[in-house]
Formats: sequence, C-alpha cells, structure tokens
Amino acid sequence: MKKLVGVLLAASLLLTGCGSPNPDPGGTADEQAGAAPAPQTQDPPGDARSEKTSQEPSQEITPEPPANQAANPEPPSTPVQAQTNAEAPQGVDPNQGPAVDCKVEKCIALTIDDGPPPETAEVLDLFKEKGVKATFFLLGSLAKERPELVKRIYDEGHVIGNHSWDHADMNTLSTAKIKQELERTNEVIAKATGVVPSLARPPYGNKPKAYIKQVKKDGQAIIMWTIDPEDWKTRSKTQNIKRIVGAAKRNSIILTHDIWPSTRAAYSSIIDKLQAKGFTFVTIPELYGNKLKAGKVYGW
Ligand SMILES: [Zn+2]
Repeated sequence: MKKLVGVLLAASLLLTGCGSPNPDPGGTADEQAGAAPAPQTQDPPGDARSEKTSQEPSQEITPEPPANQAANPEPPSTPVQAQTNAEAPQGVDPNQGPAVDCKVEKCIALTIDDGPPPETAEVLDLFKEKGVKATFFLLGSLAKERPELVKRIYDEGHVIGNHSWDHADMNTLSTAKIKQELERTNEVIAKATGVVPSLARPPYGNKPKAYIKQVKKDGQAIIMWTIDPEDWKTRSKTQNIKRIVGAAKRNSIILTHDIWPSTRAAYSSIIDKLQAKGFTFVTIPELYGNKLKAGKVYGW
C-alpha cells in the first residue's frame, strides 16, 4: 500500500514536473522556470539557444578546467565527503576508464533528467549500440522504485546526478527540507550503485543559497545546461532533432527528458547526426576534465 502511494506520488509529481503534459503556466517546467536567469547565476551559457538562458551568448564553454565559469570564486578546497568510493576522485566514474580529453576531442554532453522511467532501459540499449556516454539526473523517488535500472545506468559507464527526491522547487523549501531532498536521493542512488553522486541539478534550475550550500557540503557540483530543446513542451521528435542538432556546439550541454516518447524517439537521429559532425558524446565530468568543484555552478 505504501509502495502504491509512492508510485502514485511519483507519477503525479512527474505530471507537474519538467515534462508537464499540461502546457498551462502553472506546470512550470524545468526549462521554463529554470531558464529564467537565476540570480545566483554569474556566467550565462555559451551556446544557449534558449532566449531565456542567453544573456550573453557569445561565450562558449571551454574544455579548460572551468575555473572561470564558477559561480563560487573560492579555491577548490572542498573535501570530497560524499564519495563513498575512496578510490575515485571527485566527479570520476570509476567504470568509465580513461576520460576523453575534450581539449582534443570535439565533445558534447547529453543530459537526461527526471527519470528513470522503465523505458530508460531502451535508451541504454541505444546508447550502448551507438557508443554514447551520457549523464542522468535522477529523481530519488523513481530511483528507489527501480534500483536495478539505476545500477545498470552506472554499470554501463554513464554518470548519475541528483535531481532531488520528487522534483520539488528548491526556492519554496526550508533549508531542512532541501537537505532532505538531496540526501534521501543520494542515499537511494548510493544504495543502488555504491557511489554517491558528485553532480546535482536542481529542478527548474532553481538554486537558492541554501541549496548551493547543501550541495557543496555533499561534495557535488551543480550542472545546468546550454541547449534546451524544450522537449517537454514540443513533444515532437522532429523538433527535438532539429533544435538540438541545429544548436550543437563544441562543449554544449544538452537538456532532455527520457520520460517522453518523442524524446526517446529522437535520440537515435540526434546521435547519428552529431557523430557525423565529429562530436564525441561525453559525460559531464569528462567534459570538464574531471575537475569539477563542489558547490560551483557549471553550464550556463
Ligand atoms: Zn527536471
């Protein structure tokens, strides 16, 4: 019974989350609210195609260690508390093998939010077939329902980040509740994979100071995006392909949601077209040369 309640809760949250099936403004999707430039954001995205995120669209993300992009100017002294695997440095997935060098390769990072739905399994099949590595920002409430799928994501060399427990808007929560949203999710992911995520992405892109502080304590870097195809809104395979391929630049971070069939249907063509243009799909830690710093904001 409890489990059923949990499922219903997760389902209802999804319906009001990023991929809201309702185009109504109350449905504030990730991109909608998230794209509204957050006051904490210091560095706008390089190649954001979204008018809402592109205050200064000339600056592209460089593959350099992104010290110049950090919202937080403090030196990288944050201890890596969250990493349960002591062998692994911050931000490195121990299963990944040698990271791609994005100073050499023309890198691009595909990120996938709000899952995992059961269909993530199909997405993983495709990524395996195409040789793509991606970064999944998972909801703790869904990860708890599908620990085997979470483990599979990790085992196949993708990177997992924390997207909160139930897609709550951090701007509306107390400090204690923010901590709970993050830590419950960390626990569930760590239980499934053995590793606490070193990345976090706040729902709607909303990241109040208390969120940033907690994430830093947890040893996580905050990852935004630079290409938002608004897949939750158009729910069009064609539009997804067109918008993402059209906006793709070296070191872009693409925001997608695999809860939508139209998005899942678009991945194959997006991958083929971008690989044909010479892009290499990398995880977020690879994109930044495995030098992400806890509590800093990347990707705007
Ligand atoms: Zn989301």
